[in-house]
Amino acid sequence: MLDLAIIGGGPAGLSAGLYATRGGLKNVIMFDKGMPGGQITSSSELENYPGVAQVQNGMDFMTPWIEQSQRFGLKHEMALVERVIKNDDKTFSVILEGNKEVKAKTVIVCTGAVPKKVGCKGEDEFFGRGVSTCATCDGFFYKNKEVVVVGGGDTALEEALYLANICSKVYLVHRRDAFRAAPVTVEKVKKNQKIELVLNGVVDEIKGDKSGVTDVIVKFNDGKTRDIKVPGIFTFVGLNVNNDVLKQTDGSYLCDISKNNEVIVDLKMKTSIEGLFAAGDIRIDAPRQVVCAASDGAIAGLGAISYIEMLH
Ligand code: FAD
Ligand code: NAP
Repeated sequence: MLDLAIIGGGPAGLSAGLYATRGGLKNVIMFDKGMPGGQITSSSELENYPGVAQVQNGMDFMTPWIEQSQRFGLKHEMALVERVIKNDDKTFSVILEGNKEVKAKTVIVCTGAVPKKVGCKGEDEFFGRGVSTCATCDGFFYKNKEVVVVGGGDTALEEALYLANICSKVYLVHRRDAFRAAPVTVEKVKKNQKIELVLNGVVDEIKGDKSGVTDVIVKFNDGKTRDIKVPGIFTFVGLNVNNDVLKQTDGSYLCDISKNNEVIVDLKMKTSIEGLFAAGDIRIDAPRQVVCAASDGAIAGLGAISYIEMLH
């Protein structure tokens, strides 16, 4: 029986593992379907982690996290977790691919989230080279330059406002002429002189060259097209939270989930199920930043220690 099973080895999972093992838990395994590090390992530049002044790529940035947590006894098992179940005796079963069952006294779920794709030509080819899903991360690279933002929800409009503070102009491309974002945010966007609304159109293609993105081709509902010449495009068309591991065989979720499919937690990262914690991008109101995921993981790791002490 494990003291603690951590599902997901991104910043939240690694930080949870570090705090739990350094805090005295002996038998802790962090399951990740791949190598630990999480989504930030796909980033070419990270420059907003406090205290790390030198710009690094995500892979180099995460490597010491893995070494540091393993030094205190955290074990990594490369395995896809299919499901987490709570048993009648209060223990948890972690079901791995191939139906292997691992029992644990407590579980921290840190499986993250993935931005949805627009689905246009060039999106994958230029991802990280002009196509971004994170304004806080990459907006600064477009200081005083023009960018496109795609989407009509709260995220797209809030990020368009954020980018308008940095960039010389923001083209907000949305497939309808009505926004689903909060009316107050829509008003702010409409009043912002640096934001041009490009409505009733979808991004048909992202073009570029060796330097990265050069053009965004918008196709309007009436069939016309427009070529917007920009070095950057930010897509905010919704997120898929990786909450599959919490889905039970009857289709219900093990713990309470928000209407956006995020795990509902309190300030101690406790879910609605005793002994089950969630941390990082998977939780409600996550700012989707490495520093925040790491903080969540530390809180959950300490919470797991307290929970196990309470069991004894
Ligand atoms: P993740 O990092 O998503 O880690 C989740 C882990 O869970 C993954 O390793 C995954 O393999 C594993 N997993 C998922 N499902 C399963 C399963 N069923 N079984 C086993 N393992 C599973 N943030 C910043 O602060 N600054 C930046 O500059 C920045 N740039 C970014 C650039 C890019 C391109 C991207 C994509 C994100 C960026 N972010 C940035 C956001 C940051 O990466 C995330 O907020 C952070 O990684 C979230 O950490 P997490 O541990 O919650 O989840
Ligand atoms: P969202 O509300 O699902 O909005 C996604 C937007 O992208 C929609 O406008 C949608 O268009 C558009 N879209 C989807 N697929 C597209 C495609 N392939 N091509 C072009 N456009 C596409 O996602 P979100 O903005 O990330 O917000 C997620 C949730 O978090 C929401 O509930 C939101 O309210 C919440 N949130 C709240 C705040 C806040 O309260 N301050 C901030 C951020 C997020 P349609 O409108 O036509 O469907």
